[in-house]
Amino acid sequence: MSDVKSSTYCNGCKKQLVSNSQAPCPYCGSLKKDQRVEVEELVLVSDAGGVLLKTRKEYYNENPILKWIVIIITLVAVFIGAVGGGLVGLIFGLILGIISYFLSPFVREKIIEIHESQT
Ligand SMILES: [Zn+2]
Repeated sequence: MSDVKSSTYCNGCKKQLVSNSQAPCPYCGSLKKDQRVEVEELVLVSDAGGVLLKTRKEYYNENPILKWIVIIITLVAVFIGAVGGGLVGLIFGLILGIISYFLSPFVREKIIEIHESQT
């Protein structure tokens, strides 16, 4: 059994918020939000001792600051490449492109939570 849902969490107090709400957090007033896509899986393992309830939750945490840094670096690289011209523009564009390539995997981190309970 698996369940996919998208939820919004407050970055300040980590409470779940109404999705797609642009208003500040009703609990702490923070404007920073985390968008998470959660995949929830429920596994029932039955053996002689009883029923083992296993829940597995997967979600991505997005780092909005790093996301904007990568976007800006990419835009600057394109701009320098276009305006700078010549070899200098090419090298700067290439260096910035490489930096944003290595930063982009850190924009999103995958989190897996596994809970087990014996009933
Ligand atoms: Zn909050």
